[in-house]
Amino acid sequence: MFLDTETIRADFPILSQKVYGKPLVYFDNAATTQKPLSVIRKIEEVYSTINANIHRGVHRLSQLATESHEEARKTVQRYIHASSSNEIIFTRGTTESINLIASSFCRSQCKAGDEIIITEMEHHANIVPWQIQQDITGIAFKVVPITETGEIRLEDLEKLISPKTKLIALTHASNVLGTINPIADVVRLAHSQDVPVLIDAAQSVQHIPIDVQALDCDFLVFSSHKMYGPTGVGILYGKENRLEQLPPYQGGGEMIANVTFEKTTYNELPFKFEAGTPDYVGSTALGEAIRYIEKIGLENIYFQEEKLLQYATERLLQIDGLRIFGTSKQKGPVISFLVKGIHPYDMGMLLDHLGIAVRTGHHCAQPLMNVLGIESAVRASFAFYNTEAEIDILIAGIERIVKMF
Ligand code: PLP
Repeated sequence: MFLDTETIRADFPILSQKVYGKPLVYFDNAATTQKPLSVIRKIEEVYSTINANIHRGVHRLSQLATESHEEARKTVQRYIHASSSNEIIFTRGTTESINLIASSFCRSQCKAGDEIIITEMEHHANIVPWQIQQDITGIAFKVVPITETGEIRLEDLEKLISPKTKLIALTHASNVLGTINPIADVVRLAHSQDVPVLIDAAQSVQHIPIDVQALDCDFLVFSSHKMYGPTGVGILYGKENRLEQLPPYQGGGEMIANVTFEKTTYNELPFKFEAGTPDYVGSTALGEAIRYIEKIGLENIYFQEEKLLQYATERLLQIDGLRIFGTSKQKGPVISFLVKGIHPYDMGMLLDHLGIAVRTGHHCAQPLMNVLGIESAVRASFAFYNTEAEIDILIAGIERIVKMF
C-alpha cells in the first residue's frame, strides 16, 4: 500500500523544521529515528499523571506506573512474538543488552579457549563486549568474512564452527552495508551443532517483522530510539530457559528476592536482570512507538522504504565517481557511499549546509572499514516518512558539491 507521506509527516513535528533556512531533509535514521507526537505526548502524560517509582509502592500512582511499564513489556512481547513476557528484559539499549549477555554468558558458560563467532560487518557494540570478555575469561572469537557484495556465506560460517564454539552473535542488518543476513538459516545451522545464536536487531526491528519463535533464535536485542521510541531504553529478548541459566549482570534493588549480609537470593525473570529503577517512562513510550508502527503497518513501512532505497540507489549511481558500499540483494534502507576526490566529512558538512542530515565517519564499524579499505564513508538512511522529493534534494546537493570540487 502507498503511504500518505504528507499525513504521516504531520505526525513528526521535527520534520517541518528548517536548518540553515532550508527545509530539513533527515537521512540519519539508522543513527536514530524521529519521534511521532503520540510518543512525545505519552512521555508528557506519564510525568503529568502517573509518575511514581514502580514495583515497590502500595500507593495508587505507583500501581499505575507499574501497570504501564508491565503493559509495555507485553507490547514488546507481542511485537516480536515472544512466548512469554518473562523473556523481555528492559535495558538501556542494544549496547547494554549485548554487554549483559557477553558478561553473564561468558562468566557462567565459557572457559579459556572457548569461542564466540561474529562477522566482519558487526557494529562495535557486538565486538568490544566480547573483547572485554576475552581479557576476563580468556575466550577467543572468530570472524566470518564478507563477500564483495557485503554478504556472509553460510559455508564460511560453517567452517568456523567447532566443538569450542559457544555462541554465534551477528547482526540481522548491517548499519553500514544495509545487508540483511539470512538469520533463519544461521540459526538452523547453529542449532544443528548445538550452538545458540544472538541476533543484533538494532537495524531490522523497525523495518522487518520479527517472530522470535519462528526464528528460534536464543537472544535478540534492539534499541527503542531506532524504532521511533525514546532514547535510553532497549530490549534483550532471551528464551526463558536460556535466561534462567544466566547469572545477574548488575546487582541492586529490584533484582533480588532476599538480601542478608551473608547471602542474597535473586528475583525471578525478568526482574533478575533489571537492577535499579528502570526507565518506566521510556518503556511506556516505547510501547506507544510500537503501537504507532503497528498502526502504519510494518508491511507498508517496508514497502515505502524499499521504494526509497531503489530510487536513491538508481539516482546515486548516475553520479560520476560515486561508489556504494554494500550491494546485497536483501538490503535495508541504508546507503553508504563515497564520491571520488571528496572527503566524506566535506561532503557531510556541505550537505548539512543545504539542510540535509547524513552521517559521516566509521559508523562504529572500524573493523568493517578496514575490510573495505576505507577510513570512513557518507551514509544516507531512510525511514517511511522520507520522500522521493527529499532524495532529489540529496542528489542535487551532491551534484552541486561535485561541481564545486
Ligand atoms: N548494533 C547496530 C547494528 C547498530 O546499528 C547500533 C547503533 O547504531 C548498535 C548496535 C548500538 O545501538 P545503541 O547505540 O542504541 O545501543
